[in-house]
Amino acid sequence: MNIQEKDREYIASTYARFPLTLVSGKGAKVYDENGKEYIDLGSGIAVNVFGYCDDEWVKAVTEQLNKLQHTSNLFYSQPCAELAELLCKKTGMKKVFFSNSGAEANECAIKVARKYACEKKGKDTNVIITLKNSFHGRTITTLSATGQDSFHQDFLPLTEGFVYAEANNCEDLLSLVKENKVAAIMFETVQGEGGVLPLEKEFVDTIFKVAKEEDIITIVDEVQTGNGRCGALYNYMNYGITPDIVTTAKGIGGGLPLGATMLGEKVKDTLKAGDHGSTFGGNPVASAGALSIISRLDDTLLSEVKKKSQYIFKALEGAEGVKSVSGAGLMIGIECEKDALDVISYCRENGVIVIKAKNKVRLLPPINIEWEDLEKAMSVLIKGMR
Ligand SMILES: *Cc1c(COP(=O)(O)O)cnc(C)c1O
Repeated sequence: MNIQEKDREYIASTYARFPLTLVSGKGAKVYDENGKEYIDLGSGIAVNVFGYCDDEWVKAVTEQLNKLQHTSNLFYSQPCAELAELLCKKTGMKKVFFSNSGAEANECAIKVARKYACEKKGKDTNVIITLKNSFHGRTITTLSATGQDSFHQDFLPLTEGFVYAEANNCEDLLSLVKENKVAAIMFETVQGEGGVLPLEKEFVDTIFKVAKEEDIITIVDEVQTGNGRCGALYNYMNYGITPDIVTTAKGIGGGLPLGATMLGEKVKDTLKAGDHGSTFGGNPVASAGALSIISRLDDTLLSEVKKKSQYIFKALEGAEGVKSVSGAGLMIGIECEKDALDVISYCRENGVIVIKAKNKVRLLPPINIEWEDLEKAMSVLIKGMR
């Protein structure tokens, strides 16, 4: 059996994979088993922030790997302590809980918000408002937080206490706040899996206004939008807001599993020893990789992200076969006249990897992609949409 046949035989059938076996890569370029080269505008779903096998990241990871690969959280270790310090200094958040994935980062946020509300207002105040069309993960509780019935139907009953507001509908949000005993409001600033749909500033401001009035915890899910992706270290910064909790994963580890739940002043000490944990959380190798990623996300690089974003939006505006373009920074969704899967296949045949979000073609290129690679990939994509 070849690799694809083995995979289909022995790996649980949860993924509809593209017919492509990837074996090595460098920067934005990746090679399949036949040595064919692709420019990758998907970055392993916003994970490979600096592309494949970035030199500095590889060095940081291998150096740590040759020192100590794991300690458990029974002991102190340097990389996760330094990473937490760096994240707090760069964001103004106060403490960090580390885990291994976006779903886990969100689970922690939900536990923090419920505990805070329970202590402050009593155990009846436990409802979490999330948004329709959101995506927060695949565990039973983060599925419950995910405001899309299609993800729910086969797995009932889910965790109780989640209600869903329509994105960008302030009235709907405010009436849910009135009708429920609300512990937290949780949202993505750009709904990624939902189709790369940014929230309007007015709606986000309304969330923060009512949250302040009612002492409701705000949780911003930056699993996909974060780590430089949208032209700021975290995209909430582009909205000028200060969340109580920020969650992230995907890009933070630059390709190794790592989740982070960043806690603001209000909730920094809500969880006590024994309240939460994760065996691998803050793993030294993943943390060393993350240190290398986060420490390089400076203003110069972030302004490059904005420039590349403007270039892409401009190249797509009015291009033949494009119905609409949405997103922020280097997180972009394209509604095409053709079926998204046909555009994706055309691109793949012509050496460019792009992915899907709902009915759209989604672009999540490495944020340091070379201009030459980006221009070449865009010309293929634009041909593919005609
Ligand atoms: C991908 C994603 C998650 C889930 O992350 P996992 O690491 O797959 O658990 C949660 N929230 C958002 C916004 C995501 O894009």
